[in-house]
Amino acid sequence: MGKVCSGGSVKKKAALAAAAGAAIYSFLPSAAGKLYYRCSPKGSDRVLYLTFDDGPSEAYTGELLDILKQYGVTASFFVVAEQAAAHPQLIRRMQQEGHLIGLHSLNHVSAMLQTPAGTIDDFRQSMEIMKELGVEPVYYRPPWGHVNLSTFSCLRRYGLKKVLWHVMAQDWEAGISEEQIQYRLLRRAGNGSVICLHDGRGRNGAPERMLEALKKTIPLWLEEGYRFRRIDERRDV
Ligand SMILES: [Zn+2]
Repeated sequence: MGKVCSGGSVKKKAALAAAAGAAIYSFLPSAAGKLYYRCSPKGSDRVLYLTFDDGPSEAYTGELLDILKQYGVTASFFVVAEQAAAHPQLIRRMQQEGHLIGLHSLNHVSAMLQTPAGTIDDFRQSMEIMKELGVEPVYYRPPWGHVNLSTFSCLRRYGLKKVLWHVMAQDWEAGISEEQIQYRLLRRAGNGSVICLHDGRGRNGAPERMLEALKKTIPLWLEEGYRFRRIDERRDV
């Protein structure tokens, strides 16, 4: 009986140690980073920062670029490196049309699930791909905002600045309508907001609904006097 108890106790201690390790390695830095960003000052200028994650995608990014061009809007794209390698023509178009290109990991694995070696490899491969594409990213947005302790050393090594967001519209969800996305964008975004939308991945054709919402929302924002800027035009980054 004593042996069973002590065995259970050892297992419990090991589980607690593993949980504490995971918290220090990834969970706490991720949560603290998100909270810090959400609370960071946004300024009083009538400016919005549109950012798009998870692309480029064959199906949606071209249409998104058309919409941005139509309204003279410049934005920031946080691209998945493997997706970028698969669609170099879309990367070239982003560059030609004055958009900022940042990095959004190699293939969208959460840093919470990556070992230190896996994290280092993710950055190394991503930066090699971006270099081959003629892009030198300065900004990095981690998938889901997740980081681990190795993420910080990789950011320093490659001179990358982490960028999160103030506003999400849950545009990746399967059941969300374009009206819901538009409502959330109009209600949640204000002076200086960094807005995170998705031109790739997403469930059930989600980016299509995001594009429809954006087509209706950009003209309303312009009517309200908002201007659109890239992430590198923010004063505090
Ligand atoms: Zn993402």
